[in-house]
Amino acid sequence: MLFEGVLKKMPTELKEEVQYYMVFENDFLHVNQLLNQKISLSFLKYQCLNCGKDKKIFRQGFCYDCFYEIPQAGDWIMKPELSTAHLEQEDRNLEYEKKVQLQPHIVYLANSSNVKVGVTRKTQVPTRWIDQGAHEALEILEVPNRYLAGIAEVALKDHVADKTNWRTMLKNEIEDVSLEEKRNELLQFLPEEVEPYILKNNKETEINFPVLRYPKKLKSLNIEKSREYTGVLKGVKGQYLLFEDDRVFNVRNNAGFYIELKV
Ligand SMILES: [Zn+2]
Repeated sequence: MLFEGVLKKMPTELKEEVQYYMVFENDFLHVNQLLNQKISLSFLKYQCLNCGKDKKIFRQGFCYDCFYEIPQAGDWIMKPELSTAHLEQEDRNLEYEKKVQLQPHIVYLANSSNVKVGVTRKTQVPTRWIDQGAHEALEILEVPNRYLAGIAEVALKDHVADKTNWRTMLKNEIEDVSLEEKRNELLQFLPEEVEPYILKNNKETEINFPVLRYPKKLKSLNIEKSREYTGVLKGVKGQYLLFEDDRVFNVRNNAGFYIELKV
């Protein structure tokens, strides 16, 4: 069977094992059903997720011009502490920024390769954790806007990581840690402004990924360069497809690539 369309972050569902989907304009794939099957990927062209043009993708699925223009790619996305909508201050489009920033946000601890702190909109729990390949996660604060989540994260970064080691995550060289204990250690470092929003009694969420075999020696698949690839799918973790020959393909990082997929 042949499918084609522009790659975007895979939608997921938290079940006993995470369920993954690929949604194209005219096609829909349940990725879990492709496990143990041979898949061919071909890069056909670019399709910017904003303007739709066949222009080289710069970042986050957008072409260079869109990345530096549209409100969906403002600096406050990656650095929540730069959010200013709560002050009525515009970055690129105040209406959009108010809609996204002035809503409940979660500060969490997640363990994908090591314990890290992160921020997400409340509506993105547990999606965000799945996308990062976390096998356990815990909400520690629920704040009313993105700015407060950002300053809490910045304060905690001095005491806990804020990055995932994706190689460790994909090889599944992981350790179980009590995130509840970690939270209790970290609470003292939070800024005063967020103290009313601490979640003291939340429990960890466990996440199981559909993986039959973890890669030993990772090799990243660069479909833009190689143009074509065929391999047997052995698992999905985070936003990565894991193949039998130890190739790994980050679907999210390849957003904006228009591909053909043969099963
Ligand atoms: Zn564009």
